[in-house]
Amino acid sequence: MARIEKLVIVGVGLIGGSFALALKEAAAVGRVVGVGRSERNIRRAIELKVIDAAGALDAATLGDADLVLLAVPVGQMQAVMRAIGPLIGGKAVVTDAGSTKQDVVELARRELKRSLARFVPGHPIAGTEKSGADAAFAGLYRGRKVVLTPLKGTDAGALALVRSAWESCGASVFELAPREHDAVLAGVSHLPHVLAFALVDHVARHKDAKRLFSYAAGGFRDFTRIASSHPEMWRDICLANRKALLAEIDRYGGELDRVRRMLERGDGRALQALFAGARDARDRWLQDK
Ligand code: NAD
Repeated sequence: MARIEKLVIVGVGLIGGSFALALKEAAAVGRVVGVGRSERNIRRAIELKVIDAAGALDAATLGDADLVLLAVPVGQMQAVMRAIGPLIGGKAVVTDAGSTKQDVVELARRELKRSLARFVPGHPIAGTEKSGADAAFAGLYRGRKVVLTPLKGTDAGALALVRSAWESCGASVFELAPREHDAVLAGVSHLPHVLAFALVDHVARHKDAKRLFSYAAGGFRDFTRIASSHPEMWRDICLANRKALLAEIDRYGGELDRVRRMLERGDGRALQALFAGARDARDRWLQDK
């Protein structure tokens, strides 16, 4: 792949930091400059050698960048794009890692007009419930999928650069339309996060919450792991993809109603058939992964 001499990461958290570390490990990058909102996190990123230096949203940082990754919460994308739009140099390719794509693409059309052809929207389907530079690790993307949602006018060279950068991180790259991406992720990522947050909230509000938590064990821990995820990030994702998410919440509500009716009828056969079908589907998914 073409070596990236200068990489700028805006938002040096789990996702941006892991991208930098993976490219460093693959010797696919020269210098990495990080731009952040929290000084403490940027200092930590330098200490951990995730980035080589701190930069800012200015011409000195962005003017000669080869690749710029926007890895901030999607609610921050507009402000960041507005700031970088006039500063992006003639050769720089800009990409993002935001978990929703229709909103990010819409913003890019408005804010990155001059460099829109060199903007490649993306989303790595990989993560943990941890955040910040401390959580970053080089292996995060190994064997995982990355979805790119290029636009009609996306420059072929820009797309190739972003694709090969993710491949250097060990990921497999797929392309989807932004709307298709958001519909799929609403079902298998955004809905499960909402359910996990809502379940923990439901238990926490119980008048006997302390006692309930004291008896919660492995099942509760597994189901709710993702409720330890970053609240700001998930607020932004839910709001950005709320149309598709509302449709999934309605469908899921219908499924719960179905289970409720089985319970009301005391219909063990129907319950067992549903549980067996779900277990088989999960086993097949794990095997095919
Ligand atoms: P994170 O909280 O670990 O990192 C985000 C970083 O961005 C933080 O260090 C924060 O200080 C910084 N930041 C916030 N606003 C900023 C601004 N205006 N300018 C500069 N820096 C700013 O979050 P993360 O998990 O790395 O997520 C980053 C992006 O990747 C989000 O858009 C998220 O939707 C997406 N994403 C997350 C996951 C996941 O599982 N965590 C997976 C795929 C994609």
